[in-house]
Amino acid sequence: GPGAGGGADLLRARMRLSLQERLWAFYRERVNIPGEEQAAARRAALDICAELRVFLHAKLPDMPLREMYLSGSLYDDLQVVTADHAQLMVPMVLEKNLWSMVPGEDTIMNVPGFWLVRRENLEYFPRGSSYWDRCLVGGYLSPRAVLEVFERLVAGSINWPAIGSVLDYVIRPVVPSETLTLEVQYETDRRLYVDFLPLLSMEDGGALIAKPHRPAAERHQNLWRQSFRAAETARLRALDREDGGCRCACLKLAKAVCKLNAALQRLNASQLTNALLLLSDTEGDWTQEALADRFLQLLRALVRHLEAGRLPCALNPKVNLLCELLEPEVDELGYTLYCALSDPEGLLRT
Ligand code: GDP
Repeated sequence: GPGAGGGADLLRARMRLSLQERLWAFYRERVNIPGEEQAAARRAALDICAELRVFLHAKLPDMPLREMYLSGSLYDDLQVVTADHAQLMVPMVLEKNLWSMVPGEDTIMNVPGFWLVRRENLEYFPRGSSYWDRCLVGGYLSPRAVLEVFERLVAGSINWPAIGSVLDYVIRPVVPSETLTLEVQYETDRRLYVDFLPLLSMEDGGALIAKPHRPAAERHQNLWRQSFRAAETARLRALDREDGGCRCACLKLAKAVCKLNAALQRLNASQLTNALLLLSDTEGDWTQEALADRFLQLLRALVRHLEAGRLPCALNPKVNLLCELLEPEVDELGYTLYCALSDPEGLLRT
């Protein structure tokens, strides 16, 4: 009868309340990184960035680059659990008349969100006219070849032990790594991973990054990845600013849960951010009191996306953010999250 239903509702409300409390406690104790730790990591990253700038200017004055800069969640207050990674953005300059960008959906591979960068006008401007011609593979600028150029420099010709001893860090290139990564031990028990991320500016203000498509199939070799990170992050922040919402807190919780649970590590910030943005389209209440409800809804939405094998990018729905996951990975993620729906607090016991 109505009495029993009311009791069940009340019980449910009480359980919600406790999940809510646990989520905020977890947020304070595990997710959030102390300001001092963030500052120390940023300082170490900046020291490395400064050294690399000096080195590249001296060693390769004609490499057409704009100034390198640091970016990533460490700089957007979206990093979670430990301050342990950052991206070193390396903007490459391409001659306008020598290169053109071809969207992935217009190629035989048909992958929205990825692009080919084609060398043009070879008959008038022969190979060698552009510095980056050395990275041509089959008429296209190869992100792998670009990464190799930096790898040779960074792993081969920089005296990291010497620089490290000046800065009082232990610095070493991580090999093998999918991108190009430096490991920086800046205190006895603190490590920072700095990823090199060469990037190309697009005409509309977007960017392509040299982060390989996975799985690393031969036919995907030359694909550049369109980065939506800046726009996604800005949109999420703007929504929170408008209504004092908890979307960023919800994102950081989800990121922490994925970072701390081995079975969820394949879910990345971009997938989580976009799932949240899509949820924001239909869900209006992002008050602090709604955190547990929204968090559970996010889990449910992720399960649905994984079941469908499709998570559209909020900024370009043609892009499927699950397209690089292998089927067993999708299954494992979906199963783990599905189980978590009946025991969400289990996700916090790590
Ligand atoms: P987190 O690494 O999970 O904390 O999330 P971030 O928001 O810092 O995202 C970093 C990841 O996004 C890295 O794997 C990058 O390769 C990738 N990424 C894609 N586009 C960008 C970009 O424009 N800037 C940065 N910093 N990372 C990007």
